[in-house]
Amino acid sequence: MRKYKVVVWCEVCGLNHEGCFGGGTETIGSSYETWEDAHKTAAEYCGDHPYSYRVEEDDEY
Ligand SMILES: [Zn+2]
Repeated sequence: MRKYKVVVWCEVCGLNHEGCFGGGTETIGSSYETWEDAHKTAAEYCGDHPYSYRVEEDDEY
């Protein structure tokens, strides 16, 4: 069974090392059982922040 994880990054800070997530990306969750669950969590996490996210299949499972 596939699982999903959410990767977020900040559109404003981009690659700025002193910005959000150290200018990189952050995995905010993993092991979501459905793509919809992962997206819902990501949307809530990003909220009003200038973040973008993507949902990826988690290869560890
Ligand atoms: Zn930022």
